[in-house]
Amino acid sequence: MQYISTRGGIDPIPFTEAVMMGLATDGGLLLPRAIPRIGSSTYEEWQDLSYPELAFEVMSRFIDDIPEAELRNIIARSYATFDTDKVAPLVHQDSLHIMELFHGPTLAFKDIALQFLGNIFEYLLEKQDSVMNILGATSGDTGSAAIYGVRGKERINIFILHPQGRVSKVQEQQMTTVTDSNVFNIAIRGTFDDGQAIVKSIFNDLDFKDAHHLGAINSINWARVLAQVVYYVYACLHISKHENDKTTNFAVPTGNFGDIFAGYIAKRMLPEGTIRKLLLATNSNDILTRMVNDGDYSLGEVTATSSPSMDIQSASNFERYLFYLLDEEPERCKQAMEKFAETGSLDLTDFKDQIQRSFTAEAATEEEVTDTIALFYKEHGYIMDPHTAVGVHCAMKHLKKGVPICCLATAHPGKFGDTVEAAIGRPLELPASIIALQDKESRCELMDADKNQIRDFVKAHSKLN
Ligand SMILES: *Cc1c(COP(=O)(O)O)cnc(C)c1O
Repeated sequence: MQYISTRGGIDPIPFTEAVMMGLATDGGLLLPRAIPRIGSSTYEEWQDLSYPELAFEVMSRFIDDIPEAELRNIIARSYATFDTDKVAPLVHQDSLHIMELFHGPTLAFKDIALQFLGNIFEYLLEKQDSVMNILGATSGDTGSAAIYGVRGKERINIFILHPQGRVSKVQEQQMTTVTDSNVFNIAIRGTFDDGQAIVKSIFNDLDFKDAHHLGAINSINWARVLAQVVYYVYACLHISKHENDKTTNFAVPTGNFGDIFAGYIAKRMLPEGTIRKLLLATNSNDILTRMVNDGDYSLGEVTATSSPSMDIQSASNFERYLFYLLDEEPERCKQAMEKFAETGSLDLTDFKDQIQRSFTAEAATEEEVTDTIALFYKEHGYIMDPHTAVGVHCAMKHLKKGVPICCLATAHPGKFGDTVEAAIGRPLELPASIIALQDKESRCELMDADKNQIRDFVKAHSKLN
């Protein structure tokens, strides 16, 4: 499988190059040249595969430059760190199915992609006898998942910036208690946006980027999307077995549009009708909900909510979907993205019907989120985190008789304990891995939000010294 850019400015490249490139060099995002189609008979044959076996079947349709045994090995190691061999277990509540994606080392769904990406990086660096420095900014979940994805890896150093005092206690401890010598946590005196801007400007210094083999781990990396396609297929197979019904809807708590875009790829891959609709669920940062319902893709102000990993306006993966919406014509995609960068808005009203054939959308208020957590606890004894509750609230609003819906549970409730405890009115039993954080040694640098200071720090601890 070859990969192309949404903006048309690169020659097709194989999977491993696409992973190393991250963002396409023409500023676009990388996509497979064609989405592979899975016929009904192949799909039926997948029914009883384990998660890693299924992951191999799905991924190998997109990867033809890693030998089979190596790819199987990378997948097996990536999911052996999860606390259940189901990897993504399903909990059934009537016709609502909750797929728990938080059984990895940092208790959020980003582990599913970042465990895999870390191992792919390691494999490629060994093959090329090279090294890399990963640099990223986080508002919480991505940083810890990325750190756990590469900790202890010999050919990689990782530098993660987080805003001092503005991530949750658990998130901070998950990052700073990883004291492997290749992990560098930097708390900055500033906001997440300051951190993001610093990282961007360091990446824009192309001489520095090349000299230090800077690598990115943000959700625009195709390997992350690909790893997420797998659990949609896994969910469809298991729900159709449970329901005796061959069609499923999905409710997806959405921020950067990475997770739900993986669902869109799965929908186009699988036999017609296997995935019926993707329900895009946002908190009050609702740009994507407006996009689906009104064709209005225009930036608003970011507001802080109880689901902070979705407090995003400019969704970094949206361009991938836009490419398909614009008939896979890179020139049109490029123009649209340039216009969006200039004006902060895109008018997609002419595409509403087309968008709504794949997506439905709904936004949840803060009150609806806490009510949903409380309701599920009361009625089913099931405790969910606020991100998951955004999706479940929207799912309940759209639940149609007879069509099963799968809600993606993106974080463990213990990760956002304060909101959850307030909603259910009692203390949570925290998982052992969170309790253990209290007693661990931690390591973190505190710095001003100053680009030069941070660049010098990276330089001083670079793998290429
Ligand atoms: C990152 C994240 C999301 C949003 O996923 P996107 O791919 O950015 O849409 C939702 N929930 C949690 C817990 C997350 O960490």
